[in-house]
Amino acid sequence: MSAAPQLKPGVVFGEDYKTLVKACKDGGYALPAVNIVGTNTVNAVLEAAARNNSDVIIQLSNGGAEFYAGKGLEDGFKAKVLGAVSAAQHVHLLAEHYGVCVVLHTDHANKKLVPWVEALIEEGRKYKAKHGVPLFTSHMIDLSEEELDYNISESARILKLLNELDMSIEIELGCTGGEEDGVGSDDIDDARLYTQPEEVLKAYDVLTPLGHFSVAASFGNVHGVYKPGNVDLRPDILKNSQALVQETHGTDANPIDLVFHGGSGSEKDKITQAISYGVFKMNIDTDTQFAFSEAVGDYVEAHPMAFNYQIDPETGEPYKKLYDPRKWLREAEKNMIKRLDEAFVDLGSKGKSIAAANKIEKAA
Ligand SMILES: [Zn+2]
Repeated sequence: MSAAPQLKPGVVFGEDYKTLVKACKDGGYALPAVNIVGTNTVNAVLEAAARNNSDVIIQLSNGGAEFYAGKGLEDGFKAKVLGAVSAAQHVHLLAEHYGVCVVLHTDHANKKLVPWVEALIEEGRKYKAKHGVPLFTSHMIDLSEEELDYNISESARILKLLNELDMSIEIELGCTGGEEDGVGSDDIDDARLYTQPEEVLKAYDVLTPLGHFSVAASFGNVHGVYKPGNVDLRPDILKNSQALVQETHGTDANPIDLVFHGGSGSEKDKITQAISYGVFKMNIDTDTQFAFSEAVGDYVEAHPMAFNYQIDPETGEPYKKLYDPRKWLREAEKNMIKRLDEAFVDLGSKGKSIAAANKIEKAA
């Protein structure tokens, strides 16, 4: 075995991204892809990655991007673009200082959100002209609700644009259940919850010559957390898809770079199994949202007076030290980091960062 590759800490693109994905698959681990909505959640993800010595994926949904820009902006489309650019710039500035490799991604974009991705590609082009690197590592296009031929040909068109900028694409085959920013629904046909290996082969044939891509395959995964028993995960779907491509083209094992959506609340052994079949990215949103909010709830419950009065009406004691937003936002960050500590262990990425040393000392 050759020595593990090393990359410069910071946001990775193009060949470096492929190196990172390969390191994950060769090393039998995956990276959490955490949805963020502001600097608090971005910084929590960076801090969690640094203290776990793991590389990480930071991503925004279109709704998250709009929120990042501010709900007060009247033009919602513009906000979705500006928010994503703003978040990416924040990560570009800070990532290297946390000493790990960071992948910048956008989440689901269905047919009506393709113009959002196209606008971001244009922003990426402008950024690259100035800084030599694009804004994002990879964008996701989710045309799983459309006909397969359209899904693949439109994904191919967009991959060509991305490839020119040293960027990658993530596509979706089959339909992840549950609800995420209006994409996906509760009442889809059961068969569609499972990607067919033939679909994966078809995508592989069309996309491989055009650039780097990853595939979100459906194997019974559902967005959100539902009561146990509602989800029947079948990672063998992933295994069969990899096997079909491998047999057809004589590739090495696990030729497809797979993404696991709806990982929140999944059984740990199914996660491990999915990783062994070539999953390098597992999206996490619902569980980290809860962790963030849970800590705020606890804090407010512990200090109810400070959320009703600036000064105690009886003792005259000022509550400023308690209601200072940094206090309760920090508790939220810490609890989100605690949930991510668990994710790095579950995905096997803890201690595996391939960023070259010179990490900054991080707080315990
Ligand atoms: Zn998803």
